[in-house]
Amino acid sequence: MSYDYDLFVIGGGSGGIAAARRATEYGAKVGLAEFDRLGGTCVNRGCIPKKLMVYGSHFPHWFEDAKDYGWSVGEATLDWTKMTKVVNGEVDRLNGVYQRMLDKADVTVYRGYAQFIDAHTLKIGEEKVTADKILIAVGGIPEKADVPGIEHAIISDAMFTLPQQPKRFVVLGGGYIGVEFGCILNALGSQVTQIIRRPYILRGFDHDIREHLQNSLIEQGVNVWGNTEITSIEKTKEGFKLTTTGDRAETITADVVLAATGRIPRLEKLGLENTSVEVNNGAIAVNDYSCTTVPNIFAVGDCTDRINLTPVAIQEGRAFADTEFGGKDRIMSHENVPSAVFTSPEAATVGFTEAEAKEQFGEDDIQIYRARFGSTYFSVTQRKEKAMLKLVVQKSSDRVLGAHMVGEAAAEIMQGVAIPIKMGATKADFDATVAIHPSVAEEFVTMR
Ligand code: NDP
Repeated sequence: MSYDYDLFVIGGGSGGIAAARRATEYGAKVGLAEFDRLGGTCVNRGCIPKKLMVYGSHFPHWFEDAKDYGWSVGEATLDWTKMTKVVNGEVDRLNGVYQRMLDKADVTVYRGYAQFIDAHTLKIGEEKVTADKILIAVGGIPEKADVPGIEHAIISDAMFTLPQQPKRFVVLGGGYIGVEFGCILNALGSQVTQIIRRPYILRGFDHDIREHLQNSLIEQGVNVWGNTEITSIEKTKEGFKLTTTGDRAETITADVVLAATGRIPRLEKLGLENTSVEVNNGAIAVNDYSCTTVPNIFAVGDCTDRINLTPVAIQEGRAFADTEFGGKDRIMSHENVPSAVFTSPEAATVGFTEAEAKEQFGEDDIQIYRARFGSTYFSVTQRKEKAMLKLVVQKSSDRVLGAHMVGEAAAEIMQGVAIPIKMGATKADFDATVAIHPSVAEEFVTMR
């Protein structure tokens, strides 16, 4: 049987584009459908514009610190419109880069929503295409909590096009997105209240990260309302009035409410019912090779709800293409995947948390090394910030099972620390590594 394409990719985000390009390198004829802008969530309404706003939010602190270093700093004000224009301009540029990359790789791009007619046939608008293999890389969408008035809350997509900076900003949720935007807006001068249903932000992270970062955010002025949930949002003349229950049972009024209460795979209207692709808990079920329950249909990235991070989707996509088109037997390892939360200070992590390690290996077999200290930078500033670094080590093997950090450049540092941890390095290997002095990262090789 001959098909229009060797591979058809549904979704032009990080995972889909990486898989499409890699497959063409092996000579595959590839088509790709995207109904929105190329680049997916990461490029258009996630990692990239968010990181630019994070950079923008650093300046108020630096202006303050500059005075302590002898600078005279004039009055500094933020032009919100200019900032969002710069951010969105970069997104536009990247859209063009992605289009050119796909053109160069000879991937045929269809601008529309692809739906399955059967396991080898897709409908995109009025057009039908057939493919030997189909890769679903459709990503996810934000999910709002089910409370009256939740339609008044925006989702993170809208953060990059707000016409003006909100004076009063309320964030619902204490995950990556909520914590990052709460921190950005607070640093830019908004009054921020973060409502979380647990005592601490960032469930799933090592407890020391959760506690240290939360305390730091509170010190910087973020009002964190722990053990609290909202019961309703009402639109009033003064703004959006939120009513809460729990430790902080009160009402609060906001100019903007951000619902950052998680994301779910975007599977509606895909026509999966016309195939035998299995969906478990709202996500496409796949095996280690990202193969669904239909042998010629594969899925990568957030729509499979494994680890919902851009670099994971990219590696899953490339492993799929290497295996199916490059004759290599490759699966992506989901162990020791590092990640970072781009707050100020940043939080970053790789490997086992202390709790996970104790659960898996037993409390007696785990040794914790921890350091808390202020870097040289803060020794002369009024503003003080303490870094926290932690290693989780298995006593019997001396293996470093996990590393965790809150502090300046934590993301950059953790990328390097993730390599020895992935390779199975021991605490003795860390100790044998000479420190770079003076630095924050040196704590990772000098902890006793
Ligand atoms: P997360 O799953 O990280 O966090 C969701 C938060 O909302 C949690 O605090 C959760 O509480 C809370 N929550 C969920 N449902 C409710 C509810 N009904 N009522 C009250 N609170 C609720 O989701 P995000 O939206 O923050 O981020 C989505 C994904 O995007 C992340 O998992 C991550 O993979 C990715 N991402 C990664 C970034 C990075 O790498 N820096 C940046 C941004 C996003 P609880 O903990 O109790 O469940």
